[in-house]
Amino acid sequence: MARPAIEDNARFGVAGCPPNFWKSPFKEDSANNPLWLDSIGLDAYEVQFTHGIRMDREKALRVAENARKGGISLSIHAPYFVVLTSLDDTVVKNSIDLMTRCIDFAQYLGTSRLVFHPGPHHGNPNEALKRCLKNLETVGRNIPKGVYIYPETIGRKEFLGTLEEVVKLCRELDFLRPCIDFAHVYARNGGNLVTPEDYIRVFDYIAQVIGKEVLSNLHCHFYPVEFDSKGEKCHRNFKESASGGYGPRFEPFLEAIVEYNLSPTIICESKQVQDEDALTMKRYYEVIRNKKGWKLVNAT
Ligand SMILES: [Zn+2]
Repeated sequence: MARPAIEDNARFGVAGCPPNFWKSPFKEDSANNPLWLDSIGLDAYEVQFTHGIRMDREKALRVAENARKGGISLSIHAPYFVVLTSLDDTVVKNSIDLMTRCIDFAQYLGTSRLVFHPGPHHGNPNEALKRCLKNLETVGRNIPKGVYIYPETIGRKEFLGTLEEVVKLCRELDFLRPCIDFAHVYARNGGNLVTPEDYIRVFDYIAQVIGKEVLSNLHCHFYPVEFDSKGEKCHRNFKESASGGYGPRFEPFLEAIVEYNLSPTIICESKQVQDEDALTMKRYYEVIRNKKGWKLVNAT
């Protein structure tokens, strides 16, 4: 059943079709994923083109229709082989073509959000950022009004994609918005996001450089991660994070969101159980949000 879109609510969802989807009665057609997500109480779906655009226009239109029916907001994750920082002209050309195809699919799916990984920096992040920006300008030449491209923060240190680099990119072109993968930020910085104040600092920074409006509808990825000195090693889930000590923890993140009164879209990429972990976050969010409401009502 479609829930009304409540503007000031955070949305919680998954990347791709989780294993539980394939055990559900909806499994006959992966275009049913939005209907399944609605049936379990989630509100967002990032369509994964990470290993290629394995969908035709008709299927994309079916996904869009099901998302409308289920009140699910959609985004797209572009292929991993898009490398807009590349030094190789052929790779750049192919990457621009792929981004352009993703933009076509954004229109079929009726989404305004296209997430991508910028690529390796080859030891010189400043030059890589300039190349990425120049290629994004080319991608953006024919971008339809209302479609935005989201460079993502990246967990491995050899890639362009610190929080600062992503925010810097977004300041330069008006069709860019940040995708903050908090697990990647955490892994890259040796586990730096611990308290609500750590998140508030990130939110303040984004608001300061690219504005409060972008911040209030922030596109995020959140899940626990294992890392080493080079950054991200692999995705984990909340069950593993309890026993293995993997972070970041979702509680301080959601407390900061409620404190800041943000309405982000939060895509969970937990290993195997992204739907269950997204629901865990949504439940916690609702509890602390209601508590805050209760406090405010009683304070007046
Ligand atoms: Zn990603």
